[in-house]
Amino acid sequence: MKIAIIGAGAMGSLFASHLASTDAEIWAFDVWREHVEAIRRDGLIVHRDGAQRSVRVNATSVAAEAGVCDVAMVFVKFGQTAGAIGAARPMIGADTTIVTLQNGIGNVEIIAQAYPANPIAFGLTTLTCELLGPGHIEASYKGAGETYLWPRNGTENPLLGPLCALMVRGGINAAREPGIALKIWKKLVVNCCLNTMCAITGQNVGAVADTPEAWRFLDGVADEIAAAASLEGIALPAAEARSFLRSVAAEARNHEPSMLIDVRNRRRTEIDCLNGAILKVCEKHGVAAPFNSALYAMIRVLESRFPGAAA
Ligand code: NAD
Repeated sequence: MKIAIIGAGAMGSLFASHLASTDAEIWAFDVWREHVEAIRRDGLIVHRDGAQRSVRVNATSVAAEAGVCDVAMVFVKFGQTAGAIGAARPMIGADTTIVTLQNGIGNVEIIAQAYPANPIAFGLTTLTCELLGPGHIEASYKGAGETYLWPRNGTENPLLGPLCALMVRGGINAAREPGIALKIWKKLVVNCCLNTMCAITGQNVGAVADTPEAWRFLDGVADEIAAAASLEGIALPAAEARSFLRSVAAEARNHEPSMLIDVRNRRRTEIDCLNGAILKVCEKHGVAAPFNSALYAMIRVLESRFPGAAA
């Protein structure tokens, strides 16, 4: 199987490094030339648990060099999706399955708009990774995590089974999951609560978890997301959303969510596919979401002074 990784940042490089240990042909595609050159020169350097190893993987900033692939996995940030899948067009043929494991909601729709006739699959991963610098990533998870995939619109796709099997051979615990929508909305609760609260306060998950006043606010955020889920036909009771949020917060006390790191580095965040997407769903159904609206506004204020932000 020939697989394109569109956006070989933290997560794209992580998946490339796992898949490179199988017999698949992997092409990491990224606009960041320094990173691509480092991978071509030294291999992709994966740091994990204090050790590091170099993984050989094809890397390019020129999509035509890779040519058409069987699968294209999209791993850019939300605001980069449209540009990246456009730039990757030489790797995407009529039958290429496009896979997104990106966070939040909205990426699938952007991909479907650009490639309406292509098979698309979506899902999530609990793996986490940080980009240390050109050619270097740090795998920051324990075990093999959980990665789930399902075809958009439920249309059967014969490649998804073999793709999951390939990921398993590469050390990623991947499976097809018909109940993907509920899992995505539960992850959305976590990201919309913890990523934003940590980004605004500059604290890690443990600090938020230890603050009772934060929980009064976050329960409000979670309840609104649970209500939005049920308006979209996904049964997520508020009690389940709250307890899932607490279980993740307890397990990830030392974690600094990506939105906190984005804010620290004065980079645009993924707020529009998180709390921003919840606001859109609520607006569509004519319901208010004041807790999510407050978080959205605060992140927007922070972003307004980042380099490149509109005045
Ligand atoms: P990242 O910023 O580390 O990587 C994105 C990469 O895309 C960068 O290397 C960038 O140069 C590249 N890129 C941007 N525009 C491009 C274009 N037009 N063409 C080609 N490449 C382009 O981001 P990340 O942390 O790997 O996150 C990727 C996705 O995975 C996001 O949706 C995120 O929410 C999700 N996710 C991240 C983690 C994590 O731990 N980092 C965990 C789960 C899910």
